[in-house]
Amino acid sequence: MAKKYVYFYGPGKADGKADMKNLLGGKGANLAEMCNLGLPVPAGFTITTDCCTDYFANGMKFPAEMEEQVLKSLAETEKAMGMKFGDSKNPLLISCRSGARMSMPGMMETVLNIGLCSETIPGLVEKTKNERFVYDSYRRLIMMYSDVVMEKAEGIEAKGGVSIRLQLEEIMEELKKEKGYKLDTDLTVDDLKSLCDTFKKHIKSALGSEFPDKPMDQLWGGIGAVFKSWNGKRAISYRNIEGIPHEWGTATNVQAMVFGNMGDSSATGVAFTRNPATGENKFFGEYLVNAQGEDVVAGTRTPAPINESTKGEQNAHLTSLEVGMPELYKELDGIQKKLEKHYRDMQDLEFTIQEGKLWMLQTRVGKRTGTAALNMAMDMLDEKLIQEEDVVMRLKPAQLDELLHPIIDPKSEKGAEAILKGLPAGPGGAAGKIVFTAEDAVEWVNKGEQVILVREETNPEDIEGMRAAIGILTARGGMTSHAALVARGWGKCCIVGASDCEINLKEKTLKINDKTLKEGDVVTLNGTKGYVYSGALDMIDATENPRFQTFMNIVDKFRKMGVRANADTPEDATIAQSFGAEGIGLMRTEHMFYGEGSDEPLFYLRKMILSNTLEERKSALDQLLPYVKKDMKATIEAMKGMPVTIRLLDPPLHEFVPQSEAKQKEVADALGISLEDVKKRGDSLHEVNPMMGHRGVRLGVTYPEVTEMQIRAILEAAAELNKENKKCLPEIMVPVTCDEKELKDQKALVEKIAEEVKEKFKIDKLEYLYGTMIEIPRAALLADRMAEDAQFFSFGTNDLTQMSFGFSRDDIGGFLSEYLDRKILKDDPFQSIDQDGVGQLVEYGVERGRKTKPELKIGVCGEHGGDPDSVEFFHGLGLNYVSCSPYRVPIARLAAAQAEIKAKKA
Ligand code: PEP
Ligand code: MG
Repeated sequence: MAKKYVYFYGPGKADGKADMKNLLGGKGANLAEMCNLGLPVPAGFTITTDCCTDYFANGMKFPAEMEEQVLKSLAETEKAMGMKFGDSKNPLLISCRSGARMSMPGMMETVLNIGLCSETIPGLVEKTKNERFVYDSYRRLIMMYSDVVMEKAEGIEAKGGVSIRLQLEEIMEELKKEKGYKLDTDLTVDDLKSLCDTFKKHIKSALGSEFPDKPMDQLWGGIGAVFKSWNGKRAISYRNIEGIPHEWGTATNVQAMVFGNMGDSSATGVAFTRNPATGENKFFGEYLVNAQGEDVVAGTRTPAPINESTKGEQNAHLTSLEVGMPELYKELDGIQKKLEKHYRDMQDLEFTIQEGKLWMLQTRVGKRTGTAALNMAMDMLDEKLIQEEDVVMRLKPAQLDELLHPIIDPKSEKGAEAILKGLPAGPGGAAGKIVFTAEDAVEWVNKGEQVILVREETNPEDIEGMRAAIGILTARGGMTSHAALVARGWGKCCIVGASDCEINLKEKTLKINDKTLKEGDVVTLNGTKGYVYSGALDMIDATENPRFQTFMNIVDKFRKMGVRANADTPEDATIAQSFGAEGIGLMRTEHMFYGEGSDEPLFYLRKMILSNTLEERKSALDQLLPYVKKDMKATIEAMKGMPVTIRLLDPPLHEFVPQSEAKQKEVADALGISLEDVKKRGDSLHEVNPMMGHRGVRLGVTYPEVTEMQIRAILEAAAELNKENKKCLPEIMVPVTCDEKELKDQKALVEKIAEEVKEKFKIDKLEYLYGTMIEIPRAALLADRMAEDAQFFSFGTNDLTQMSFGFSRDDIGGFLSEYLDRKILKDDPFQSIDQDGVGQLVEYGVERGRKTKPELKIGVCGEHGGDPDSVEFFHGLGLNYVSCSPYRVPIARLAAAQAEIKAKKA
């Protein structure tokens, strides 16, 4: 049997249906479905995506069996509409539109009014008694057809970069100027007639071929051009950005034309079954009397509201469809209700009214904001339109960002142009005055200003200023650079790696191209997109939505994988719990030495670092112990018995060496040595490549007393809490390991201290776990051995990514954008896990680790733990939990629940 390439649809009958999107494209499948529902849809047919791919495979020739099928469906269309294509008395006009599986708005081509020619024009004039309408339609056909079919589809390069469409528009403008007209509608019938003649002559001379005067030629030209537009430049780059496969092809929808511009009983409009911005359950839309679809989109006339209850300030004076055409409004309202009920989701509709008759041209699931998505899903659940499982799938995890942070008002952002772009490191929006040092940030904020801290890059010493600022902008760094990690941890708006600017610290200026911003100038950051704007844009805050909690409770019913938070302080721990964290997956010990209240512990830490003998070091560690213990205890206690993974000191010690002479002097006095000696000892800690230097477990191996102090602090804190009858579960985690012998070495220390603590507190049980980060590729490869002495693994995918790619996590900003633009990388690997490479290491590590120890608890604590795609990937590997910044906990919870639902369905 011949392959079926053409699917007819018409009133009450269609060959296709909604679930045939792959073959018919979204538009074609939904047109068929509307026909099946008995809605008024102009008849037509869909030529399949298969036909498109075969057409390309055939060297741009239509498959043999397709022609007959097209003619058959055309005849059915004529019958359904009671008109004939190419007929001199009662001519049918048709459109050719693209329609892929996934919507690619405006990326492919359309040709309207096909069928107008010297044979059919007089008949249509006679029938419509509207010569102006007919010639205006003809003029539009010539312009569209020559552009889409004769120039673009033929691959003709526009002369001097001026396309045929622009050339024709110029001719029309000339005529209007000559006649003293302002609007296209001022053109008379005679003007339009002569314009069409001029157009055709011009096309012949510019493109070398005649504008076709045979309807069938126009039709075949139109179909081929729509197929070819799948491979137009715009369409290809859109697919690259959206990750749509190039092999899919587009369907072509051929459909009888209906006209909204046939006088005052005609109209055209777009509508949503609920408000796409707020989610409010009110039919919402706009329409224009005596107009075509493109007039609504073009924005030359202000469209009127569809009904009274959704009138806004700008359109209150206009007549709604509800009042202007009450019967038709009632019909449309009935249709929208039916469609929403049928599709069980908000629909985005297009309709046309031709001389008092309503026609539906499109329905599809409508795009919506995060707030609207939440409200609609919860409403639809209440209305019993959808189930809890659907509710969970209705929000994209990234949309939760909108609900958790203030964002730039999209209306305000729409008209603004970004002056600088960087990586979107911390979500939401922020507007403030720029300052260039952390001290200035704190000072200005104390004076009551809102500031954006602008730095080349940040380091731990900037922490106070970063905390004070409302947003952070850096010229260097990647998605896991210091600024990005810290900002995300706080849920603070942040852009990093905005490299197209020059920061002059002396003059306190930020130069972007030829624009120079001074300290105190206002900028607005969109940390979700990575855009910087000059001046203050409006903000909106969506966090107060009370339905958020209810939604998250539903989400958790479906989730199996745990979600923890990366948190370092009791405050962060409390925030993390409010977002639903089920434990701390990473407490970075070193953070107690930065920021507020860190002066004393930092002083003793420095004293320890700059000690020269074991005695000196031990005495400094003894002084440090109570601070570390207090800090551990507070955070463990704040988590109320949930597991808290505490990582032993990770960074190289030189990071803490005092830089200012005053601080160096303090340490010198405490150690009873000279300033010179302190400087020398500090210098001796210098490393060429500290990232791969004396850090993490290597410190613990070479200075066992440093590990011992930390273990003692953790276990004494736990023992004290136990004595107070408070539950707790510390998990001691060793960082930067690459060999099982490192783990054995540190384990001996842990066990020794555990015995000492039990003795001290006179207890015979002390609950804790001992485990390791897996963040060096070698550790992943030898995970079977690493598991011998570890009760848990936590994949540090930040460092694992850094060491697998050999990309510095702090310097990737310098080349990342080019790598992304040129498609060498699909995504920033520090943001979304590289499933091909780094992902394999995780998979292998999980498999090998569990081979040794089937019950091995495994999590992820790199930044990927808060990225929805990565969460789905980790879910697939059978991880016990992911851990991420507190503000991303809801996102990870949702992503984990969705992964579970998808896996169940697969
Ligand atoms: C990691 O490397 O993934 C990690 C969580 O540790 P850090 O970011 O502190 O290096
Ligand atoms: Mg690490």
